[in-house]
Amino acid sequence: MDCIFCKIIAGEIPSKKIYEDDEILAFYDIEPKAPVHFLVIPKAHIPGAAAVTPENSNVIAHIFETIPKLAGKLGIPHFRVVTNNGEDAGQTVHHLHFHVLAGGKLGEMA
Ligand code: AMP
Ligand code: ZN
Repeated sequence: MDCIFCKIIAGEIPSKKIYEDDEILAFYDIEPKAPVHFLVIPKAHIPGAAAVTPENSNVIAHIFETIPKLAGKLGIPHFRVVTNNGEDAGQTVHHLHFHVLAGGKLGEMA
């Protein structure tokens, strides 16, 4: 499948990994939009938030349980989690991912 994040999961494209287990991967965003900016993705190819179903939603809880642990390790008690669904919302990679942004005072967005 021609998916850049599936290729990162497969190790075909390098990434700066923060955390990995059987279900998810966390790695630094290549174009950081905040002093700390990493992505957390399911290893399963879910195209975006609109494709979350009762069958695949367990991984979302796992991601949200993992994010605070990673934030603790990285020393960022204040952080923002964002997911863009659809091109008008800014989605450029069609593999579900949660942006974790932190470091300094973040601008208002939502
Ligand atoms: P979105 O625009 O919400 O789909 O987010 C996609 C994000 O993936 C952007 O912030 C990109 O900077 C990031 N990105 C794209 N390619 C890579 C890559 N090879 N490694 C790390 N981050 C990437
Ligand atoms: Zn994918």
